[in-house]
Amino acid sequence: MQNSPFSALFEPIQIGPVRAKNRFYQTPHCNGMGALRPDAHARMRGIKAEGGWGVVNTANCSVHPSSDLLPEVLQTLWDDGDIPVLAKMVEAVHEHDALAGVQLAYSTYYNGNRFTREVPLGPMSRPVSGYQPVQVRGMDKEDIRNLLGWWAAASKRAMKAGFDIINVDSNFSTIAFQFLSPRNQRTDEYGGSLLNRTRLLRELIEVTRDATQGQCAISVRLIIDELCGANGLRAHEEGIEAIGMLAELPDLWDLVVGTWADDSPSSRFAAENDHEPFMIGIKSVTTKPVVGVGRFTSPDTMAGLLRRGVLDMVGAARPSIADPFLPNKIREGRYEDIRECIGCNICVSSHFAMTNLRCTQNPTMGEEWRRGWHPEYIAAKRSNDAVLVVGAGPAGLECARALGQRGYNVTLAERGTQLGGRVTREGEQLPGLREWLRVRDWRITQLHKMQNVGIYMDSNLCVQDILEFGAAHVVLATGSTWRADGVGRAADRPIPHDNTVKILTPDQIMDGELPADGPVLVYDDDHYYMGSVIAEKLAKAGHSVTLATPAAEISAFTANTLELSRVTRRLDEAGVHMLTHSVLGKISGERALLVHVHTAKAHEIHVATIVMVTARLPNEQLYYDLKEEAKGNIDGGIKSVGRIGDCLAPAAIFQAVYTGHKYAREFEESEEHVAMKRERIQLQEV
Ligand code: ADP
Ligand code: SF4
Repeated sequence: MQNSPFSALFEPIQIGPVRAKNRFYQTPHCNGMGALRPDAHARMRGIKAEGGWGVVNTANCSVHPSSDLLPEVLQTLWDDGDIPVLAKMVEAVHEHDALAGVQLAYSTYYNGNRFTREVPLGPMSRPVSGYQPVQVRGMDKEDIRNLLGWWAAASKRAMKAGFDIINVDSNFSTIAFQFLSPRNQRTDEYGGSLLNRTRLLRELIEVTRDATQGQCAISVRLIIDELCGANGLRAHEEGIEAIGMLAELPDLWDLVVGTWADDSPSSRFAAENDHEPFMIGIKSVTTKPVVGVGRFTSPDTMAGLLRRGVLDMVGAARPSIADPFLPNKIREGRYEDIRECIGCNICVSSHFAMTNLRCTQNPTMGEEWRRGWHPEYIAAKRSNDAVLVVGAGPAGLECARALGQRGYNVTLAERGTQLGGRVTREGEQLPGLREWLRVRDWRITQLHKMQNVGIYMDSNLCVQDILEFGAAHVVLATGSTWRADGVGRAADRPIPHDNTVKILTPDQIMDGELPADGPVLVYDDDHYYMGSVIAEKLAKAGHSVTLATPAAEISAFTANTLELSRVTRRLDEAGVHMLTHSVLGKISGERALLVHVHTAKAHEIHVATIVMVTARLPNEQLYYDLKEEAKGNIDGGIKSVGRIGDCLAPAAIFQAVYTGHKYAREFEESEEHVAMKRERIQLQEV
C-alpha cells in the first residue's frame, strides 16, 4: 500500500481516546432494521467492518421516550433493556477491528411521539412536521436540565454497550441543531446570539464527556449550512464560527449540509463531492479530525480531499451500502471491482417504507442476516448443468454474473447490439440518469473476467433457438413493454380515444420517435421518475409540455428518494405546465379530458400528442411458449424454465437486480437452504 496514490486513506488516525485504523468513516445512516430487527442490523454493520470501514456508526439512536420516531425504524437507548440490542452490533463491528459509533439524538419538531404519546419538546412552541395536529412544548430550564440528565444516562448505556465513539447529533431534526439555528427565537440565554444558541450543544458535549469519563471518543454531527439563506445557519457566516466556538470540545467533527434531501441528493441533481465548497476553511478553526460526505466512490476524489487538507476522514453512507467492501477493494488495488453507488436513493426509500435497507447496486443489502447473503461470497455450484439467460438488462446481467460467480457454465444472449436493457436505454436517452449506467458497467466488467460465461449479442432467441441451444436450464429476463392504452392505477380499462391524437409510450420516446407538431401531454400514472424525465426531455427539445397526474404531487414516489422538490423545480424551470389530481378520462379530437380526483369536475386541454406513462406489460410470451414446449421436451434436456426482472413483474431497476440475484442464489438449492429467517417478537409475561 505504501507506494499507492491512495495510501493516505489507510493511515490510522487518533479520535480522542481511540484510534481508527484508516480514514473510512461510515456515517450514521437509516436502514429500516434498527432496534426492531437487531440481528439483521448487527450483521449488516458487521459486514461493513469486514469490508474495511474504520468506523461504523448506527443510525439515529433516541435518548428518551419523548424523542420517539416510531413507526420509523431506528435505535433507542431509553433504558438498560436496549443495551443488548446495540451491544450485538458493537460485537459484530469489533470482530473486524473497526470502531463502533452511536448517533445519540433527541429529535424535535419532526416527530409527534406517535408511539409513546409523550409531549414533544423543542426550543419554542411550534407544530411538528408532517401535518400532524401536534405542537411541541417550548422548553423551560427544568426541561433543559432533564434533557441533559437523559443524555448522560444514554451516554452511560452506550458505553456499557461497548461503543468507542458517541456522536452528539446536531442534525436537522434534532434539539441541538434547532437551538443553534437562527430560527430559534428564544429570548433567554439559549437564544439570540450565536454564543447563546451554541450553549445547548456545548452542554450536551460536556455531559457526554462527564458521563463517559474519557473512555469514549465524542464526535459531533453538525449541519454546517442550512441552505435556506438568511433564514438559517450559513456556513461562511455563523456555521464555521459555531465550530470555532466549540472547536476542541469534541474529538471529531462530522459535517452535514442542509436537510437530508440536501445532504443526500440523487445523482439526477448533484455530482460526487458536491459538499466540498461548504467544507473549505473548517480545518482552520479546529485541530480535531473533520469528516464530510459527498457520495464518494472515486479513490482519486477521496485521496484528493485528504491531500488538500479539506477532510481528515471520508464519510460515506450510500457508497458503503452499494459496496460494503469499498475500502478493502481500494487497499487491494481492485478499483474496477468497486460497485459504485448510482445515486438513485432507493436505499432512502426503504427507510420511509420502514423495511430492510435495499439498494439498486447491491442486492445483498438488508439480506445479510435473514437470507445469509454476503456481498462478496456466494455458494459454489451444485452441478455441472449449463444455464442460458435470455435478455441482458439489469436482471439478466446480475443473474448471469451471480451464476457465473457460483461457477456455472452460463450463456447470456441479448437481442440488441448493446448490453444493459432498460438501464442503457434510460441512462443514455433520458436526462439526468447517466450514472445509472454503472448498474450495467460494473456487471459487464465482472462478467468479462469469467471464463465460464459466454455473452452473445444480436441474438433474438425464439423457442426453437432455445431448444436447439440445448442448455439444461433457461432463465428469461426479457423485460417489459410500456402500455399505450392508458391502463394503470387510475384506469382499469383502456382510455377511450378516437385516434386523432398521436399516442406515444416511453419506449417509443427512447427509440427516438418524435411528438406531432403541437402541445404534448405527458400523462403520469406511474408516479416515479419516468413521467418527469420525459416531460423534461421534451420541454428542453422545444415542445410545449403539460405533465398531468392523478396524484397530489408530481412524481409522487420521489418523495421517498428525497427528489420531489428538485423534480418539481426542474420541471418548472424547463417550462413544463404541471397539473395534479388529474385523471385522464377521454381523448377526442385534439382534446384531452382531465377529471379532478376529488371534485370530479372536468376540463379539457388542447393536445397533439399524449405520452402515456402508466404501466408496463411483462414480455412473458416466450416464457409461456417455452414452458409449453419444455413439457414435451424432457428428453430434449430442458430441466427448468425460470423468469426474472420485469419479465416476472415490472418494477423499478433495484427489483430487477434483486430478482436476478435471488434466482442465482437459490438455483439448485434446497428449500430449507433458501428459507428466509425472521426476527420474532418475544412475548413478555403479563
Ligand atoms: P429487466 O429490467 O428485467 O432486466 P430489461 O427490459 O432491462 O429488463 O431487459 C430485457 C432485455 O432482454 C432487453 O435488453 C431485450 O433486448 C432483451 N430481450 C428481450 N427479448 C429477447 C429475446 N427473445 N432474445 C434475446 N434478448 C431478448
Ligand atoms: Fe446508491 Fe442507489 Fe444503492 Fe442508495 S440504492 S446506495 S443511492 S445505488
